[in-house]
Amino acid sequence: MTATIAESLSSARQRLSQALQDAGRNVDDALLLAVSKTKPADMLREAYEHGQRNFGENYVQEAIDKQHRLGDLDDIVWHFIGPLQSNKTREVASHFDWVHSVDREKIARRLSEQRPEEMGPLNICLQVNISSEASKSGVSLDKLDELARQVAALPHLRLRGLMAIPAPADNPRQQREPFAHLRQTFVHLRELLPDAPLDTLSMGMSADMEAAVFEGATMVRLGTAIFGARD
Ligand SMILES: *Cc1c(COP(=O)(O)O)cnc(C)c1O
Repeated sequence: MTATIAESLSSARQRLSQALQDAGRNVDDALLLAVSKTKPADMLREAYEHGQRNFGENYVQEAIDKQHRLGDLDDIVWHFIGPLQSNKTREVASHFDWVHSVDREKIARRLSEQRPEEMGPLNICLQVNISSEASKSGVSLDKLDELARQVAALPHLRLRGLMAIPAPADNPRQQREPFAHLRQTFVHLRELLPDAPLDTLSMGMSADMEAAVFEGATMVRLGTAIFGARD
């Protein structure tokens, strides 16, 4: 029998608080982001009815369609977490509260220029390519400081932290390594930019959430664990 959204959401929350507890952290030290890409608006509504407010989406048009269908739920916080092309920045700047996947200056500058004034600053995480063989997305570590300085100076963005998607690893010790590296990078960035509101480490997905929480994640991005496998 397949679990309902309410059941999977409740076990995801339990998993998160257990992981926080095991790591000696407070139970509200990390936020659960429900990654709903490819899932229908009805499933998001069900999660909303069970208290979920933060949703992560990867595809701009799909996300905007769901936002229209869920237009009556005005306190959803929308996070864009997918690869972002420059021809999509205007829509992202006007339809989201957060972007986790900024990895170059051009994208950041466009998001800042295109952010509607009345919406307030757009929250930004820089995506870091922490295990360089894994994916082509993300700024490399040697270019991170420069990008962070540029983003911190943009008027309509608020630089909140870092995001990474490490290469899959199957044992917890191996999973922790890139997350530990991201945390050290985050500590360094806070020293580099003491005035930036840096408070977010977006790391950990359904398969490696415990390892990420152990290493200090403040936002975990769970898709499969909440909504089931994607086609
Ligand atoms: C799809 C996706 C997730 C969720 O992955 P699951 O393994 O389904 O939990 C998290 N983060 C990003 C950036 C994603 O694209």
